[in-house]
Amino acid sequence: MKKETEILILGAGASGLMLAALLERDDYLIVDNNPKIGSKILVSGGGKCNITNGNLKAKNYLGEQRFVRNVLKRFDNYDLLAWLEERRLKPIVRKNHQYFCEHSAKELVSVLEREIARKKVLLNLEVKEVKRAKRGFEVITNRGTIVAKKIVVATGGLSFPKLGATSIGYEIAKSFGHKVSTLSAGLVGFTVQPEEFFFKALSGIAIEVTVTVGEKVINGSLLFAHKGISGPAILDASLYWQKGKIAIDFIPSVNLEAVKSSKKNISRVLGLPNRVAKAFLEKLNVEDRACKELDAEEWKKVETLKWYSFAPAGTFGYSKAEVTKGGVVLDEVDASNMMSRKVENLYFIGEVLDVTGELGGYNFQWAFSSAYVCAKGLNR
Ligand SMILES: Cc1cc2nc3c(=O)[nH]c(=O)nc-3n(C[C@H](O)[C@H](O)[C@H](O)COP(=O)(O)OP(=O)(O)OC[C@H]3O[C@@H](n4cnc5c(N)ncnc54)[C@H](O)[C@@H]3O)c2cc1C
Repeated sequence: MKKETEILILGAGASGLMLAALLERDDYLIVDNNPKIGSKILVSGGGKCNITNGNLKAKNYLGEQRFVRNVLKRFDNYDLLAWLEERRLKPIVRKNHQYFCEHSAKELVSVLEREIARKKVLLNLEVKEVKRAKRGFEVITNRGTIVAKKIVVATGGLSFPKLGATSIGYEIAKSFGHKVSTLSAGLVGFTVQPEEFFFKALSGIAIEVTVTVGEKVINGSLLFAHKGISGPAILDASLYWQKGKIAIDFIPSVNLEAVKSSKKNISRVLGLPNRVAKAFLEKLNVEDRACKELDAEEWKKVETLKWYSFAPAGTFGYSKAEVTKGGVVLDEVDASNMMSRKVENLYFIGEVLDVTGELGGYNFQWAFSSAYVCAKGLNR
């Protein structure tokens, strides 16, 4: 196969599809290694895709704040919702201002699909390398070569390899002299060290906690998991964790001073599910009996539940991570059109860039906002 096109979009994920949908020209092709488009969108948000968030700020992202702000303001959450509504998709708001598809993530993929001519999409096509050619770029794939004048790298990050994720975007960037910051799994659960192996026996139970990672304080749910800990608060904490300790308040709504004279057993006043309370008391070596009978030494141990500090062993890794932290360094990309500042006609959008959003729809919003800015540049 030998093809030629003016614009070649690498990746039919959130950012690539939105870009194709917004292009006001039809001299483009979009390629993806999957057998269908929007693979990650389809599994996201528990199958309902958390599209965006009603509360959108640059500070919801790791990444150079001015760059992020400049891109988001061009196509923010309201612009996205209006764009979708014009196409008869009206997402519903759930807790924490999160907007989801009403029934299924397929609703979003269908909207994007309708905006893109079917013959523009080449599937089961894996990009292996991009080289400079006489008239632009030569893209080497598993099914031959495609020559393109402009290339948009929309190949996402490393998370969920089973949905097609590869390192190609970072490799292309590096081969053209771009810096790629350190990559790691983000929005992911933590594995634990032997001292916390007792968490595993609580697998499946969720509780409300406050997690502190460095300067960052996060309130939300923690889910005890087979491999360690997960849940929204932990996923967000993973964005700010490098190595070292985190602290968890397992009983954020409990005032221990107020219960010290209670006749109730200590396991009953912690506001924790019985199994969790019992597991922690056993770990702390505190016998479960009336609060007023506990001595000062025992209260000291119970108080550690308010600041349970430990070092996770690591994360669940890319196979379970929702995103990849790090990416193509922003100061080498033009925020006005997403074009490389090093190589003319080479563009980067979406997760491949060094921008990572918190949990809550921020990563799709970034994919769509960066696609919009790129589309405006290419439509000019
Ligand atoms: C399980 C899960 C749930 C998520 N839920 C949410 C959520 O609810 N809300 C939210 O905001 N974010 C969510 N995310 C994150 C979100 O999916 C990503 O941030 C977003 O999809 C990034 O968009 P993108 O276009 O940059 O990359 P992607 O959507 O990953 O698209 C990149 C595309 O490029 C293709 N590709 C990669 N390498 C090659 C290659 N060599 N050749 C050809 N094609 C290639 C990939 O197969 C993929 O289709 C979730 C992620 C996961 C894994």
